Amino acid sequence: MAQNVPDFRFGEDAIKVRQFLYQFWCERGYPPALRDAAEATGFDRRRLMQAYRELDLGIMIVIDQEAENVNILKCMPFSAYPTQARLMMDGRFHSYLGCAMEAMAASRMPPFAGKACEIEAYCACCLARIGLVMTDGAVISARPDSVLIHVSLSPWYWNTTNVMRMCDSMNFVLDRSHADRFERQAGRRGAIFTLEQGLAFVSRGVSTRMWDPHRPPDFIRPAQMLDGLKSLGVDVSMWE
Ligand SMILES: [Zn+2]
Repeated sequence: MAQNVPDFRFGEDAIKVRQFLYQFWCERGYPPALRDAAEATGFDRRRLMQAYRELDLGIMIVIDQEAENVNILKCMPFSAYPTQARLMMDGRFHSYLGCAMEAMAASRMPPFAGKACEIEAYCACCLARIGLVMTDGAVISARPDSVLIHVSLSPWYWNTTNVMRMCDSMNFVLDRSHADRFERQAGRRGAIFTLEQGLAFVSRGVSTRMWDPHRPPDFIRPAQMLDGLKSLGVDVSMWE
């Protein structure tokens, strides 16, 4: 919703709705309509709308703020529209994931515990296939094993209105030469994360996502974000 939002806690309605969204999306692979949410929670449309806005402010979901039906675009790690990473379960399409970083995070959702989560993705520059298998937040295999995550947007621009642009900037690439090529194609420079750095970057959030119904909101505070990236050993000099 915005950067540097002051600390707040989610209310009981938002907590109940968030847990329902996770359960519904993990089970079905797509987001619920308002009627599904009403049937599950007993809330009417205004009460749901307020809970959705609160969850959007706390960076748990992204809604179309202008829409009368508060259309859900994302409930991290999931995306309602096609992205670079699709989650496959038992050889079948399950859902689209928010971005390359959310692809690192998805296997930590409680309903997926112990399961092989296959991530079907592709290189941002040449669209060549990339495949990961993840279980409980660990990379079991990566094809090719040179895969990296390119982030083309500085944290100073993350979540200025919502996280759509930030997620869009986090892409898999085959290796450093493909990252260079993507930078020329997109006309943007970015930071490069190894898969291990990507896992470390998402680890704090995924350890409590859905596991803890009272997990507090997320906040984008750019200066702290940059310090965090540096502490993971990510080279952020191109943004300074
Ligand atoms: Zn490529």
